[in-house]
Amino acid sequence: METQNLSPDAPLVIAADVRKHFGPLEVLKGINVSVQKGEVLCIIGPSGSGKSTFLRCINQLERIDGGAIWVGGELIGYRREGDNLHELNDAQIARQRRAIGMVFQRFNLFPHLTVTENIIEGPVQVLRENPNEAKKRAHALLERVGLYDKRDVYPAHLSGGQQQRVAIARALAMQPQLLLFDEPTSALDPELVGEVLNVMRDLAQTGMTMIVVTHELGFAREVSHRTAFMDQGQLVEVGDSRSVLANPQQARTREFISAVH
Ligand code: ADP
Ligand code: MG
Repeated sequence: METQNLSPDAPLVIAADVRKHFGPLEVLKGINVSVQKGEVLCIIGPSGSGKSTFLRCINQLERIDGGAIWVGGELIGYRREGDNLHELNDAQIARQRRAIGMVFQRFNLFPHLTVTENIIEGPVQVLRENPNEAKKRAHALLERVGLYDKRDVYPAHLSGGQQQRVAIARALAMQPQLLLFDEPTSALDPELVGEVLNVMRDLAQTGMTMIVVTHELGFAREVSHRTAFMDQGQLVEVGDSRSVLANPQQARTREFISAVH
């Protein structure tokens, strides 16, 4: 498997000139960005600018048309033999995807499984973990997201915020080296947004590497180390979150931030 000789301070994620089109529609027009281990990068930007597509490319829900992505020193979707690149087979892609957790806007829990069963499904079925061990870890994760008392209920009995916290625990149960969030609070009633952001803030403080697409500029400013503004398939501006949000250098970033506020 392709690994670069990366130094300990090398970025965990590197995107280099990443391009993606759907038919004639160019959705990603050369994305360059890197994320250090333990870093939180927020991506903000208007609807349709390519934010979800970029996350989906990192997680191989989409295949890129140009450029390259490395995660943990491994080229995503390909292996190199000399000067040639070969596409990975399904099993190799599945193995790479397991190292990356993703939390979506819609909490996609299995409705016919309890909270604990939702969390242990991946570890038991995919990682072949012992079910009792997996259950112990699931309960510890539920403590961490403040939902231990809901361990045996079905998702339908939880609020949207609680379901999203279970979805985060479920992603963590796979022990990912990277977590991707695609507007994790956009589908929630306003009063439930804070509890999910608090869990994400705790994760950030424990050193989890995260890429978060969000419209929550307060979260971006307070929790993320760097913020990137995406517009029309390009990262228009990337920098220290406080500077980008308080003092954006690009006119398009300024317009977006004042419109969201
Ligand atoms: P964002 O998450 O920033 O709102 P998306 O990445 O979802 O943006 O979409 C970027 C553009 O790509 C949009 O114009 C969208 O309609 C288009 N798009 C996304 N997925 C597909 C697809 N599977 N097929 C065709 N067009 C798509
Ligand atoms: Mg999106």
